[in-house]
Amino acid sequence: MTPAGPILDHHCHLDVDTGMGLAAVDRFVAAGGTHLIIINKPSWHLGPLPTTADAFTAVFERTIAIIDAAAERLPGTAWGCLGVHPACITQLVDKGGLAPAAAAELMCAGLDRAAARVGSDRIIGIKSGRPHYDVDAAVWEASNAVLQHALALAAATDCAIQLHTEAADALPDVAAWADQAGIDPARVVKHFAGGAFTGRLTPSVISRRDALTRACDRGIPFLMETDFIDDPDRPGAVLGLRTVPRRVRWLIDAGHADAMHTAHVTLPRAIYGIDTTGTLS
Ligand SMILES: [Zn+2]
Repeated sequence: MTPAGPILDHHCHLDVDTGMGLAAVDRFVAAGGTHLIIINKPSWHLGPLPTTADAFTAVFERTIAIIDAAAERLPGTAWGCLGVHPACITQLVDKGGLAPAAAAELMCAGLDRAAARVGSDRIIGIKSGRPHYDVDAAVWEASNAVLQHALALAAATDCAIQLHTEAADALPDVAAWADQAGIDPARVVKHFAGGAFTGRLTPSVISRRDALTRACDRGIPFLMETDFIDDPDRPGAVLGLRTVPRRVRWLIDAGHADAMHTAHVTLPRAIYGIDTTGTLS
């Protein structure tokens, strides 16, 4: 691949109300980026705590409008994954006063709404996971039930799923649940992965130089992301949207053109069924 080929940031968020919004897309394009997979922001960042599945639907509709607007500014296009952030359970239990099982039930209803949008309006996958911080046993158990529900939805919908989980170099329990649910673990993506992730899930590596170098040296297929959150209150909390195109050029110069073709062409097609070359004008 030459740097003129597709460059996909596989996991980012845009906030057109309080963040940079579409201006961040323009910066991504100016840096050489071509395609985005945009994830809805956690619902409680955009309004009150959800109390019904309709609250999730409202967030999804806003996200789809943002994806449409972003797509118009890209030389490639934009797609999205919709879901329920795993930290939602802590919000619902600690601030909303719900029992863990009731919180999980509401989150599963939100995921049902997300899965219903897959295949239309540019939505190509589901987003789920489990807390990346310490929680009590009841919350952990309920979170794993939500995650397994999301895997079952991905299997039934025949779509990919992105997972936000604890930092780990493998998630064998999740891979086993994917098998049980009937979804290929390779279509289950560990979002915000480090460069040492192994196992049967696909890593989406956070685009820091050290993580990318480690991933390239190990020769395991990976996607690239920034997890740009577009939150003006947390500048620098994650990487900016120009990072992936810059790192792609840096890695190609370092001799990793094959890994970049895998990250930006082959894996997106294999995991999501999307065509990053055919959609590039
Ligand atoms: Zn994210």
